[in-house]
Amino acid sequence: MKKYLKSDEWLIIEDGFDPANQRSSESIFSIGNGFMGQRANFEEFYSGRSLQGSYIGGIYYPDKTKVGWWKNGYPEYFAKVINSPNWIGIDVKIGEERLDLARCKVEAFTRILNMHEGYLLRKMTVVLPSGQRVHVESMRFISMDHREIGAIKYSVLLPDTAATVELTPYIDGDVKNEDANYNEKFWNILESKAGEGEAWLLTQTKKLDFRVGVSMRYALTLDNKPLNVHPAMVELAGLSGNTVVTDLPAGKELVLYKYAAVLSTLNHPADELIVRSRQVSEMALRKGFDQLLEDHKRQWAQIWSHSDIVIKGDPEAQQGIRFNIFQLNQTYNGKDDRLNIGPKGFTGEKYGGSTYWDTEAYCIPFFVATAPPEVTRKLLLYRYRHLPKAIENARKLGFTGGAALYPMVTMNGEECHNEWEITFEEIHRNGAIAFAIYNYVRHTGDVQYLAEYGLEVLIAIARFWAQRATWSQVKKQYVILGVTGPNEYENNVNNNWYTNTICKWCLDYAGEVIDQLKSSHPAALKEVFARTDFREEQERKVWSEISANLYFPYDAELNLYLQQEGYLDKEQILASELDPAIRPLNQHWSWDRILRSCFIKQADLLQGIYLFEERYDDDFIRRHFEFYESRTVHESSLSPCVHVVLAARIGDMRKAYELYLRTSRLDLDDYNNEVHEGLHITSMAGTWMAVVEGFGGKRVQDGKLHLFPQIPQQWEEYSFRIVFRGSDLLVRVTRNGVILKVMNAPVNLVLYGQELTLQPGTSAEYPLQFRKPAVTANTD
Ligand code: BGC
Repeated sequence: MKKYLKSDEWLIIEDGFDPANQRSSESIFSIGNGFMGQRANFEEFYSGRSLQGSYIGGIYYPDKTKVGWWKNGYPEYFAKVINSPNWIGIDVKIGEERLDLARCKVEAFTRILNMHEGYLLRKMTVVLPSGQRVHVESMRFISMDHREIGAIKYSVLLPDTAATVELTPYIDGDVKNEDANYNEKFWNILESKAGEGEAWLLTQTKKLDFRVGVSMRYALTLDNKPLNVHPAMVELAGLSGNTVVTDLPAGKELVLYKYAAVLSTLNHPADELIVRSRQVSEMALRKGFDQLLEDHKRQWAQIWSHSDIVIKGDPEAQQGIRFNIFQLNQTYNGKDDRLNIGPKGFTGEKYGGSTYWDTEAYCIPFFVATAPPEVTRKLLLYRYRHLPKAIENARKLGFTGGAALYPMVTMNGEECHNEWEITFEEIHRNGAIAFAIYNYVRHTGDVQYLAEYGLEVLIAIARFWAQRATWSQVKKQYVILGVTGPNEYENNVNNNWYTNTICKWCLDYAGEVIDQLKSSHPAALKEVFARTDFREEQERKVWSEISANLYFPYDAELNLYLQQEGYLDKEQILASELDPAIRPLNQHWSWDRILRSCFIKQADLLQGIYLFEERYDDDFIRRHFEFYESRTVHESSLSPCVHVVLAARIGDMRKAYELYLRTSRLDLDDYNNEVHEGLHITSMAGTWMAVVEGFGGKRVQDGKLHLFPQIPQQWEEYSFRIVFRGSDLLVRVTRNGVILKVMNAPVNLVLYGQELTLQPGTSAEYPLQFRKPAVTANTD
């Protein structure tokens, strides 16, 4: 854990410069707009430890994998989002000295991420080796209003002594991925040119031939007045820019406004990239920094108006939750169904920027309740578009008849993961993709989606499960053998309860949707049947047969379902009995020891109870929670949030809050000493779940929004917003009551089990309730 940031409701503040924190800060202070993102690297040259990172969604490289023992069915490549041309660079020389923070004495340094308005600010006063004192302020953002524009305001002031200042704004395509498997460069440079007041670069990715055209323009002011300086052109192999030289009197401010336009062949024809990119940067220059910033802020105001969470009485929790919401919205905006959410977003290279089940299991619950329905719909369409590849993927593994297995990790629908126990066995991901469709429809009521797209995916997934489950002569039941559940500290297990639960649900749900569409969308249903060659009677018979006779491991003595068959053969030790010095286990124990132990990496059986909670009574949830929570080491950032929701559900607010703390400031306080690699973007959605579904008790059941707000002892009050079937609801929870206010359309909801109808514009207060902690019948 590393705590060096100041707490503030809307700002992340780093005061003072410690080079040891630079890489972590580069991750934390990242900015993005859902199309592209930028680590918080300095604009000027920096010779200290740094990961220079600019990333463009959807531009990736199929890096050849490294595998010890090749297995049939493995993918050929691991897709990586590519470190893309650096558009932020501004080289600075004062007299003969290059500004390099690593070589200066730092007198003052502040870095601020303004989450309310979406920009990054840095102010510093440094002394160069010659003794020259320099004050620099830089502010930058990636426009939420125009997907291809980044803007920087960079100012230099010499407090004591005048000097000649040389500024070189540039763009640089000679960049590398830190995580390249074979240390290769992924780009070819096709063109690198400079003109007066501008520069541009045309780059091409190796293998897949994505093209990116980046251009830049700039304007200068001295002492607030426009300054025209004839520049020198910089045209190097992969780098182009302009150099301007001017005398800077002491005490006067020289400002450079830099505008970059980043365009790619995802959205433009290759032969027009440069022309269009130059047009966009020119448009940005004409609009000017202040106007672009205004437009950008307006978009952020809109985002916050339906996604903010306010926490009073706990500034650190407030900052933590806003940071998570901010980063999620910087990573995904729901405007392009070819893009998705990598576990690290645009903040680092780990996990290659690819898509995992994290999107459906964690991010969709956040977006579906905080953004207009189109945003989640795009995430569903992403998987719909990959359906043919998921069918092909299943075919490669021996499945037939239109069965689909979605990849564990993907960029374009093809599997990129190559650890057999995950690639072939962590098949529960298929269930998350089906459940996300259900989750979207129950929130939005968009049944049309099922008719147009959803059912096709559900049928293909049900077909997979129907073949993956096999008949056991011994048990006289269906079984699912050789799987890895969400808990990756167990591989190749039989009858993982979570996997079997989600399999059964998928088979049932596909059937229910068919029945529903028979009455609501008969014509569309016919088309789906034709497109999928669906033999209704035979296929549904098999689905029902498996669903009705699927095996679930159970221990009668403990009155508990088991995470998988044989779980109780393991030596039963509690996580609390582990010496803190050997945690996290994955950094201290051998892999075989972890696999043999009873310790659970992340919510597994409890993930299933979380999804289908309405089926289970309080006592059932409590028994399973107590047993499994005490064996869970939460070594995935995706884990504690699910436990928070269940702890709050059983009235254990103390436990819920304790676990909540592990998710809320995971990155800001660098709990796992890994923030230098990037942020845990997908688990940030889990933090939101912890507050809204955990403390707020938000559920959607029987087509209705349910709330059961409770409040942690540590908070004075909190409030959150929910978008539900066209209504925007504000829920404020104080120590005494719950205040509900609906903004636009009326909403029917169930508060503490009582049905209410709220009319727009009105607000009403209800007394606060808590769930009664049930008496524990059976613990360890
Ligand atoms: C977790 C997976 C997750 C992946 C990416 C792993 O550590 O076990 O559930 O999908 O990280 O976030």
